[in-house]
Amino acid sequence: MHSAVELAREAGFVPAPAPEGREYTLADRRTISAYFLRLYCSATRSQGNPDRTEYVWLDEFCLSDDQQPQNDETVAAQRSTELGRLADIFRGALQVVVFCHEDSCDHTKPECIWGQRLFTIPEILHAETVVRLTRRRLEDNIMMAKLFPTTGRAFRLRMQHYAALANRWHLYAIFQHTVNAGAVPWQVAIHALVVEAIRRDEAGNFHDHKFLGKALNGLLPRRARLSDLGNNGWNDLAWLLELNQGFYNAASLAAVCSISADNSVAWLGKPIDPAAGNERLEPVVTAFPISSDVAPNPPLTIIAGETLGLRKHLKRDARKHLKRDAFGLYNNEEIKGLKILSWWVAVVLVLISSILVGSPGHLTSGIVLYYVTAILYCIVELLAGTMYLEREGWVFLEDSLWGDKLEAKLGEQDNNLRSLTRWGMFHYY
Ligand SMILES: [Zn+2]
Repeated sequence: MHSAVELAREAGFVPAPAPEGREYTLADRRTISAYFLRLYCSATRSQGNPDRTEYVWLDEFCLSDDQQPQNDETVAAQRSTELGRLADIFRGALQVVVFCHEDSCDHTKPECIWGQRLFTIPEILHAETVVRLTRRRLEDNIMMAKLFPTTGRAFRLRMQHYAALANRWHLYAIFQHTVNAGAVPWQVAIHALVVEAIRRDEAGNFHDHKFLGKALNGLLPRRARLSDLGNNGWNDLAWLLELNQGFYNAASLAAVCSISADNSVAWLGKPIDPAAGNERLEPVVTAFPISSDVAPNPPLTIIAGETLGLRKHLKRDARKHLKRDAFGLYNNEEIKGLKILSWWVAVVLVLISSILVGSPGHLTSGIVLYYVTAILYCIVELLAGTMYLEREGWVFLEDSLWGDKLEAKLGEQDNNLRSLTRWGMFHYY
């Protein structure tokens, strides 16, 4: 909905004052959804017969019965009930269109606003075909929408890949369960689904809290009747877990949740994030309940492992870096003199160019000198960068290529690496 709102805003739509308990009136929500529908139609226009009939399921139009009175209260009640079968609705879809308003987003990374919602889980887990609807800004600043069809499995594999890179191990287990069901038993999958749903609920400031159980209904082996799901997310979740107790050990959920800070809630607190290395042993290492704010590692995590990004190749110290100055010119003491010299020469040349620009008749020579100074300074930066290797992070060097003369070979690449300190089977510097 947030992305559809952005589309409507860009088109100049001004919503009516917010009704009680909702951000937009029913009429406005449908108008906003129509903006998304128009964008979808503009993207499908180039595909196949433009006069074809296509049936689209869109929640604001389809979650309630349009034969019933269309006022906010009736629709809200029907909508609340119907959300309990959302997983079945999306499971039955021929294809699921995934969209967010961000420029060039492919919707598979954890940062995508679509993937952060509670209802993303039932929408995507059983989709046969996924169509990525992506907007891309063209050179004339116009946003162009395009469709990229793919199989649901391939889409979920990409999401699984990015979940692992972001250390989102519960999300990783959920996708691993759907793309390769034999690898992850129901015990782990249900656990991951529940923890991920609670986490998203909390991240959304409990906006969808009353839907917590409904979002999971239809994803677990046994489902609840819609009439048994109410307006309390915790109660619905507890009922679902009770129905599925043959597949799931609820004690393991208790083992990974902190104690609730709110005594009025008869439920566990928020889940403790799994640390890298203990994600498959979570219930064991977190068996002693602790407040999640106190310690980053649960008390039984003895090793405190860490996931490291490993590069395959050495890299020259000549690329933009967010945390420190770019290029070897700034990171090596032995060429500090060159750094100071080049800086002062650049300052003097810039001063001379400024004087020339200010003098009558020398404007062109002043600008040329500015330009040449910038080029010369960049050349010095690049040359210094080629003399040194990037010395942050971890790199894998194959023994058959680097062999016994590791230090000598590395020393040829970067003088600082001529002498290394041995550590275990590896070297570090
Ligand atoms: Zn996206």
